[in-house]
Formats: sequence, structure tokens, C-alpha cells
Amino acid sequence: MKQKMTEIIRRLEAYYPDSACALESEGDAFRLLVMAILSAQCTDARVNKIAPALFARFPDAASMASGEVSEIEDLIRTCGLYRAKAKNLSLCAKRLHEVYGGKVPEEMDDLLSLAGVGRKVANLIRGDVFGKGGIVADTHCIRITNLLGFCNSTDPKKVEFTLDPLVPKDKQSDFCHRLVQYGRDVCIARRPQCESCVLKDLCSHYLSENE
Ligand code: SF4
Repeated sequence: MKQKMTEIIRRLEAYYPDSACALESEGDAFRLLVMAILSAQCTDARVNKIAPALFARFPDAASMASGEVSEIEDLIRTCGLYRAKAKNLSLCAKRLHEVYGGKVPEEMDDLLSLAGVGRKVANLIRGDVFGKGGIVADTHCIRITNLLGFCNSTDPKKVEFTLDPLVPKDKQSDFCHRLVQYGRDVCIARRPQCESCVLKDLCSHYLSENE
């Protein structure tokens, strides 16, 4: 499995020489954290669209911590689940401000102590901000790695723990960003473009369909 994964990583790197997170956080840890929380059940494009107004009003944890939840709600209203997200953002900002001096922490347990932050968001932050790696088991990662034959589960934690030993730490973040891109361009949910897929000879789903 490791050899197969190494080859898949190599091909995705060749297919997408540049990889980047689709959330436009401008390299700011607080922004990325907030945007990742907002991206649950919402498109990255939508989050990118509301970000300028949100961060013009709340550029850091201190300003968001002292703001009204209703004001956050107004700025994220088009995001879906906006009431729960606004409440989480307010609580998250307060904890960042009060416990972590306004800085986004890097340890997994500290990140998981923040409202609205689960392992997916925590791994994104650890990888993109702190260079610690982390499998971001989002919908694309879960779907594609199941199709390729690495996992047989839709449980994000199971997928994360299955992939973690197979992907070198220093490649995990970019690997996951590339899977998101591949899931949008080629291995599209419900209409995968298998004939033009550069992974088809390694894909369990494709091979079983074409026996
Ligand atoms: S062969 Fe098809 S199902 Fe398999 S990874 Fe490629 S696009 Fe997805």
C-alpha cells in the first residue's frame, strides 16, 4: 500500500505542480482558522467571498472576542448554519484571546479545545500554518481514497489514521490540497472522469469496473 501511495503522490504532484489551500487566508493563521470553521457545509468560494467584509470588521481574535455574536451572524449569513457558526467563532475568538494571547495554537489538543474546531480543521492548521503535516479528511479525501482502495470507511478519523502512516508528514498537506483539486476537476462525485484519470490503473474502483 505504501508503494502504491508513493506513486499516487508522485502522479498528483506531476498533475498539479502547484498546490494550495482553496481558502484565501493571505497566510494569516487566525483568518485560516475562521475560514476553515466557516467552510463546514459551505463552499470555499462562498467563504472567500464573505471573508473581506468579515476581516475588515474583525481582523484578529481580540476584535472578534469583543464583538457581538449578532454582528458576526450578519457578516456570515450567506454561509449556511450561520447561527451556530457565529456562536462558535465568538467562543473560539474569546478562548484564543484569553488563553492563547490571541495566537492560534499549534498542538492538536489545544486546537481541539477551540469551539468549532474538529480534527479536519486542526490538521489543516497544523499543516498549512505550522508545517507539522496532517491528513485533512474532507469529503474529497474520503471519497477518492476509498475509490483508490486505501480505505473502506466514510469515518473521517478512520480515514485520517489509515492514511497518516502512508503519506510522509512533509507531504500530507499538499497531498490533501491536491486531492481536493482532483475531486473538483477529475474524480468528481457522482460523475468521475475515469477515462482521463491519471490514477485509473491504480484505482480499485476502476479496476473492478473494468475487469
Ligand atoms: S479512475 Fe475514476 S474513480 Fe478512480 S480515481 Fe480516477 S476518476 Fe476517481
